[in-house]
Amino acid sequence: FYTREMNASVEEKLVLLEGLRKALEATLDADAPAHAGRFHLVYQPKVDLRTGRMFGVEALIRWRHPEHGLVPPPRFIGLAEESGLIVAIGEWVVRSACRQAQAWRAAGLEGLTVSVNVSARQFEEKRLVERVANALRESGLPPSALELEVTESLLMRDLNQAVERMRELKAMGVSLSIDDFGTGYSSLSALKSFPISTLKIDKSFVRDLADSTDDQAIALAVISLGHRLNLRVIAEGVETEQQRDFLLAHECDEMQGYLFSAPVDAERIGEMLAQQARR
Ligand code: C2E
Ligand code: CA
Ligand code: CA
Ligand code: CA
Repeated sequence: FYTREMNASVEEKLVLLEGLRKALEATLDADAPAHAGRFHLVYQPKVDLRTGRMFGVEALIRWRHPEHGLVPPPRFIGLAEESGLIVAIGEWVVRSACRQAQAWRAAGLEGLTVSVNVSARQFEEKRLVERVANALRESGLPPSALELEVTESLLMRDLNQAVERMRELKAMGVSLSIDDFGTGYSSLSALKSFPISTLKIDKSFVRDLADSTDDQAIALAVISLGHRLNLRVIAEGVETEQQRDFLLAHECDEMQGYLFSAPVDAERIGEMLAQQARR
């Protein structure tokens, strides 16, 4: 039953998990040695399609492993979810992102919104709302400057509970958006019960936008659905001018992607903000 391959992958998982635990510990402990490996955040600009201005950023986690270097999130987020570690990691992400967003404000830079990805596992935690409230209070960031990105599949696991939690967050002033829209098990009827403000078109529909009439049809449908529900629509993974021009011509509101900027460190966002203020 236990093939050699399975053993390898189980062992790999255990090693990865141990690494994640150490990285979390080191991240939370300012005195931990540098070789422990830590998490840090990078930030990707969100841009208003019509004005071309950066109005917000999405925080994305990075893990620098002491031996393997940068480990991409898809390699460890799943395991962090399975093991429950995502709850503590996610709490650190929210706190750090709020602190950083408030630091930009305090430096006199234009107030950006900061978006944080929230996993299903985190959303199921009773204390999620309390943790978010703490992060806001601690940092001094106004709740209206924080957005949480959630996926559809997450919300389908326990619809009533998800809606209840979203309402509490919204009542606090925090915004919510549906990430990767169209890739999950979407239930269109559930959309109307979600107190969200934004739909994000997944990058898999944006990639071939210039050539694929199917992807064009999907993008157009999401844009018009979003607008009819009074939501803003953002497209992710925008890499080319043709993609941007298509989205702009069809009244998509916002974009994110390498065309404007890859995810960068906080300092670089500060420079971009200062430059934008001078324009
Ligand atoms: P996502 O939330 O859909 O994030 C978008 C991903 O697309 C990011 O990958 C980003 O770096 C990448 N990207 C941005 N612009 C472009 C572009 O123009 N072209 C292409 N091809 N890709 C682009 P990343 O940072 O590797 O994150 C992957 C996924 O890991 C995220 O997908 C999200 O689901 C998850 N993730 C990242 N950070 C966190 C976190 O702090 N918490 C949780 N729970 N999940 C996270
Ligand atoms: Ca996201
Ligand atoms: Ca996506
Ligand atoms: Ca995602």
